[in-house]
Amino acid sequence: MGTNRHMSVDSRGRYTPEAAGEVMPGSEGPTGSRSHNLLSTRRASLMQEPVLVLNATYEPINVTAVRRAMVLMLKGVAQAEEMHNTEVHSAAHAHKVPSVIRLLAYRHIPQQSRALSRKNILLRDRNTCQFCVRVFPSSELTLDHVVPRSRGGRSTWENLVACCYRCNNSKGDRTPEEAGFKLARRPRPFTLHTSRQLMRLIGHRDERWRKYLFY
Ligand SMILES: [Zn+2]
Repeated sequence: MGTNRHMSVDSRGRYTPEAAGEVMPGSEGPTGSRSHNLLSTRRASLMQEPVLVLNATYEPINVTAVRRAMVLMLKGVAQAEEMHNTEVHSAAHAHKVPSVIRLLAYRHIPQQSRALSRKNILLRDRNTCQFCVRVFPSSELTLDHVVPRSRGGRSTWENLVACCYRCNNSKGDRTPEEAGFKLARRPRPFTLHTSRQLMRLIGHRDERWRKYLFY
């Protein structure tokens, strides 16, 4: 179903599921209080589980967290296509936990523009420090300019990598060679191929994603 044409993990300047999820619950609409109750459940880790986001055409376009996916559902922006056999409880309701959601309105996603963002760099580098090759939570990673800005290094896909604070500090204002560091992989821009690969990687434990990602 669908084609690769609009595949994207993120996009610039347009409404995206991620952007919608940033809206603070309770700040708008009658569903606000319900989603607030939902978010205050103690299932914090479950709420961070990845959810595959499909366009209205069933094309995979993004990955978000359960928490955001449920807010989108409560706001009527998306509906669940696949569910986990788990529920989370808010004050008054039990909510099934989505594994795959689909946007109800078709969202045009420009093919070429994958936003150069911290989130996407970390996603590309799989939350792995590109110098010590250890995996960290996003909060413990920063972005490193491989060629430092002071040396003319630019903020591009090819010059930014995920980096832990320790490596970032010890590298300082030097190139990897000068600091005696070696990059785990040569940094590349996102491609259609990498975004699909990343979705598979993120979803490999969830059987429910397969039929949307393996055509
Ligand atoms: Zn490191």
